[in-house]
Amino acid sequence: MKAMFYDLLPLSLLDDPGHLAATVFTSGCRFRCPFCHNALLQRVRPPKMPPETALRLLAERRGRLESVAVTGGEPTLWKDLPDFLAAVKALGYRVKLDTAGDRPDALADLLARGLVDFVAMDVKDAPERYGRYAPDPRAPERVRTAAAVLRESGVPYEIRITVTPKLHEDEAILRAVRWIGPVPRLVLQAYRPAPGVMAPEIAGTEPTPPDRLRRLRARILAEAPAAATAVELRGG
Ligand code: SF4
Repeated sequence: MKAMFYDLLPLSLLDDPGHLAATVFTSGCRFRCPFCHNALLQRVRPPKMPPETALRLLAERRGRLESVAVTGGEPTLWKDLPDFLAAVKALGYRVKLDTAGDRPDALADLLARGLVDFVAMDVKDAPERYGRYAPDPRAPERVRTAAAVLRESGVPYEIRITVTPKLHEDEAILRAVRWIGPVPRLVLQAYRPAPGVMAPEIAGTEPTPPDRLRRLRARILAEAPAAATAVELRGG
């Protein structure tokens, strides 16, 4: 799949928490998560602006923004991402990368070259359930390799699991965190149905109740204490 640059959102307070960020979107993803909020970007789309224009806008905003958050789609599928991030770093920005861990080799290269300052990696579910999210049966192996790459890199990162009311069972999430861990920070993220979600009838038409996330965190801390140094709840 030939993923590519799609667009730049000039200001976000959410995409790199604690930092004033611009958000770069790429299009193209090999996963098909029913709870995907960016379903439009699963397929490769013509860019809304050339990446050179995004770099020019970022150059103009130096000093007013701190960070560039790169999300998708799956950004690591874009072959020009290393060159783009090198240009972003040359402008003095911090870089935060979102990934589902689908290209551990590309991730390792970005980290080794010092092109990323923070990674948020999504884990979808227990490994035997990845077929619900990714058609390729080798996807879970790649995700686990990506987690090992992050662990060995020394670059700060977090692992996020979006907990949906209909797809996710507590026991499967416990298996997922044991499978992927140990990690420094595990984020349990509430699912919120919104316009543009790929398949709310599969993921859920109601948001994940905050109580569910709290109970799940308590179970992880009690039953899989070695899997994560910290367990954070987000969006509940
Ligand atoms: S949630 Fe992320 S990994 Fe899943 S289909 Fe959407 S962009 Fe791809």
